[in-house]
Amino acid sequence: MTTTPDWLDKSILPLLAAHDSPEHEQAYFVYQLDALKAHLAKLQQQDVVKLWFAVKANPLSKIIQTLDSEGFDFDVASSGELSQVLAQGVPANRVLNTGPAKSKAQLTDFVNQGVQTFVVESLNQLIWLHEVVQDYNRSHNTALPIKVLLRVQLQWQEGEKNPLGGNSLTPFGLSVEQWQSVQVKDFPALDICGLHIFQWGNMLSNEKMFSLWSQMVPPLVALANDIGMSLKVLDLGGGLGIDYLGEGKTLSWQQIVDDLAKIKSEAGVEELWLELGRFAVAECGYYVVPVVDRKVNYQQEQLVLAAGINHLLRPAITDQPFPVQLLRQSSAELEHFDLHGPLCTSMDKLGHLALPQDVVVGDQLVFGYCGAYGFTESMPFFLCHQLAAEYVIENEQLSVVRVAQSATSYLA
Ligand SMILES: *Cc1c(COP(=O)(O)O)cnc(C)c1O
Repeated sequence: MTTTPDWLDKSILPLLAAHDSPEHEQAYFVYQLDALKAHLAKLQQQDVVKLWFAVKANPLSKIIQTLDSEGFDFDVASSGELSQVLAQGVPANRVLNTGPAKSKAQLTDFVNQGVQTFVVESLNQLIWLHEVVQDYNRSHNTALPIKVLLRVQLQWQEGEKNPLGGNSLTPFGLSVEQWQSVQVKDFPALDICGLHIFQWGNMLSNEKMFSLWSQMVPPLVALANDIGMSLKVLDLGGGLGIDYLGEGKTLSWQQIVDDLAKIKSEAGVEELWLELGRFAVAECGYYVVPVVDRKVNYQQEQLVLAAGINHLLRPAITDQPFPVQLLRQSSAELEHFDLHGPLCTSMDKLGHLALPQDVVVGDQLVFGYCGAYGFTESMPFFLCHQLAAEYVIENEQLSVVRVAQSATSYLA
């Protein structure tokens, strides 16, 4: 029996069923912008936390425009993301720059383009940014208001309660010990006013999230004191989870806001920031792909799809499939299928998921939570398949933003 799962907005099904794919289009993403707008408006109904959108989750023009219309500012981590945000008419002073690979040339370019808020992730980044801003100020006879947050990476001693579930070392930010080697007063051209910390992913428990945030506060406040910073801004990154596996675990936004109000007062900061990725946009997006073959191999039902990790890589690198449903109605019993893509590698698998037993070649599958980490996170060129199309639904109309393209469009 096909029932409507939580992740599916069933009002989109008639639009998808009526859609007639043009030439070269084998599969497509579709984003329900009316639903996205309503969701974002709900997130903004509070005055505890300032919300940024982590552009890497979905840099599509229409997605950025919708976030802009709901008062989000933008966290970019590359020159390409910056160009895309500016191209939507967002002013550069509403952009925050994070990321471990900021060269001095990139910092110069960002300052010249008007970006005024930076999360620095190394001593070099801090020194380079200071030099860039000093030079700019001298040559323009001005004093740019450049806000800087230092990104901190915490570790817990072996045997101590480790809220991060492992001390895996990443290139994001620096240890407290390293940051203690600087003094804020040595960088007079910068307003070093905050700390950034984000080293967890896809959190699905309000209690665990709050406990993590609480444990961050004392070491961060101590660091700010040590280096002569008056701590005005605390940025807690992203990582608010999506229930990809359908385990019935969902975060309560109201609880998050209440918890953050406590964190804000414990840390004594004026502003608390989050950069949301998946929590903002995952649920507005779907991926639609047809079945090209069905077979049984060693008692396992297998479906081969027109596209797989070439359009949707995330399941292969996280072991978390996106949830799926058949586009047409079916009253057949459900059964578990292995869902494979067309690439000649066993990695090309979108999951082992339940679908009606009567699924046939030519049927279309709809995957959910594909509004984040879909199109741009994938590996579209391998084996020279088509690039996916991208559509939006606005005012109950389906319209194309990116047409699908065959391999001849990108092969050299
Ligand atoms: C990726 C990223 C985010 C967003 O992560 P989500 O888990 O999608 O919310 C936020 N901040 C930074 C610095 C990031 O790199």
